[in-house]
Amino acid sequence: MLTTQKGILLIYAHPDDETFASGATIAFYKDQANVRQTLLCATRGQAGKAGTPPLCTPEELPAYREAELRHACDILGVDRVAVLDYEDKLVDTSPIQELAAHIKAMIDEEQPQILITFAPHGISGHPDHIAMSKATQYVVDHLLDDSSSVRKLYHATIPLTAPFTSKNGTPTNGDSLEDITTIIDQKPYREQIAKALLAHKTQHLSVERVFPGITSHDYKNVPTTNYYLLAWHNLPNYQPTEKETDLFAGIQ
Ligand SMILES: [Zn+2]
Repeated sequence: MLTTQKGILLIYAHPDDETFASGATIAFYKDQANVRQTLLCATRGQAGKAGTPPLCTPEELPAYREAELRHACDILGVDRVAVLDYEDKLVDTSPIQELAAHIKAMIDEEQPQILITFAPHGISGHPDHIAMSKATQYVVDHLLDDSSSVRKLYHATIPLTAPFTSKNGTPTNGDSLEDITTIIDQKPYREQIAKALLAHKTQHLSVERVFPGITSHDYKNVPTTNYYLLAWHNLPNYQPTEKETDLFAGIQ
């Protein structure tokens, strides 16, 4: 029997966003039959740190971080990684239509049912995160027609109670557990998620700050749950009555 290929397109801004926001999700769906996962990453994270002490020169950082991203995605099980040439911290200075066209082109190539991007607040509030969320929304609002493969758009978020803080100690953005529609809770993948986080070697300080102990292989703080808001769908009569635990719920 021919089974239809399922597809997830993750739309993020920087190397490491995928693991921070969707690590458990990617690892879980890698083990599900017939699911193809694609990551579209807008930048090479060239404004980020190079590690302490530095693992590469500033000039080498874009290629270095792209390699880290590809390694992390191999660990998690992303089937295809596409990296755009946007400059880190400057994504929101590009026209939204241009960014949306890149996303639409990837949808046309990969025919995913599921889109995942940041919630409009961007979790950390980074303007690149917000730009990717807006551009994805633009695609859904203006560029999809009835023949599109896309059935659902998810916004990655965190529950407001999560113990995450930004660099200056202020809470990051999130959503109440009540508003969160979809929870992918996958404890068996803890070590895999930890290894994907550690693959972003240049980011070891922020990884350690958010998940204390991880760099000394204590993985108890590594999150195994991803949280989403079902932001849009085009499934007639689909009205989940409880929290979804499968992104493909309601899709035939
Ligand atoms: Zn980011």
